[in-house]
Amino acid sequence: AQTPVKVTVTGAAGQIGYALLFRIASGQLLGADVPVTLSLLEVPQAVKAAEGTAMELDDCAFPLLRGIEIADDPNVAFDGANVALLVGAMPRKAGMERGDLLEANGGIFGPQGKAINDHAADDIRVLVVGNPANTNALIAQQHAPDVPAERFTAMTRLDHNRALSQLAAKLGVPVTEIKKMTIWGNHSATQYPDLFHTEIGGKIAAEQVDESWLRDTFIPTVAKRGAAIIDARGASSAASAANAAIDHVHDWVNGTEWTSAAIVSDGSYGVPEGLISSFPVASRGGRWEIIQGLEIDAFSRERIDASVRELEEERDAVRKLGLI
Ligand code: NDP
Repeated sequence: AQTPVKVTVTGAAGQIGYALLFRIASGQLLGADVPVTLSLLEVPQAVKAAEGTAMELDDCAFPLLRGIEIADDPNVAFDGANVALLVGAMPRKAGMERGDLLEANGGIFGPQGKAINDHAADDIRVLVVGNPANTNALIAQQHAPDVPAERFTAMTRLDHNRALSQLAAKLGVPVTEIKKMTIWGNHSATQYPDLFHTEIGGKIAAEQVDESWLRDTFIPTVAKRGAAIIDARGASSAASAANAAIDHVHDWVNGTEWTSAAIVSDGSYGVPEGLISSFPVASRGGRWEIIQGLEIDAFSRERIDASVRELEEERDAVRKLGLI
């Protein structure tokens, strides 16, 4: 029998965790023939809630689910992990300065990175969902010197999927008709959804919409979609975030010709080496590769640079705080 793949989820008792765990256990993360064990990491006060979720997982009698562990110690939760979904993070509270937010998250993602370094399986793949995701991923990566840096990634797949659906609605085509969508930069309001390489029926998307729609509607709608959902639902987007995490890891493991993911920069497209920034990527043989050779015009350059500058500022801030 196949050895189960161990998937560790942090913040497992939260909203995204609740939307995520059942899909992992049902085989949607890795494939319908891959058995899994789930490791749930929570802060001590949320362990009881995680136990409740585990009871519900038991009650689904998922054929692929071979075990559930719950821990409040990252050294235990990441022991032997093959996939780590870092969802739990310190949310920004009213009146909180950015430095406070970064510091609080440094206290979470530094020790988690070290625990991954010391205890995870050799093939560990890490996806950071908890915000500020790119910089949290950088902090974790910097605390895991023995793990190849390319195994640390942050999620921009939800932004990518939002961009696909906004464009599909605008043009009245199914999302499956849209190829080569790209999100660049930081998972924040500065992110840049790029339609200059996106194709529908072989034609460039940017040439099929008004420039004013692209600039004044499309880009801000994608970037601010999270706030619009909070406004409508009275709670943040959890199911769509979980869905994007599933898509990211599924494609990383099983391959894709083109999607968006925040991965460690090798200097491509002028993004400083080492930053965890979103790029157009393919996945081959279980590894992300940045799609090369795209021409970047002045409109795109300005927006990519602005988002990358924000990532550099976040990196400099966590450096100054001694978090990396
Ligand atoms: P959610 O499950 O809704 O969100 C978790 C994180 O994902 C937040 O940082 C959130 O960022 C981020 N996120 C990324 N993309 C999205 C998106 N599109 N929509 C919404 N959130 C997104 O939070 P809950 O408060 O329900 O749950 C968090 C859980 O994490 C709690 O159970 C808490 O106990 C736990 N936790 C665990 C830790 C650990 O295991 N060591 C450490 C810290 C917390 P944003 O804040 O910007 O919305």
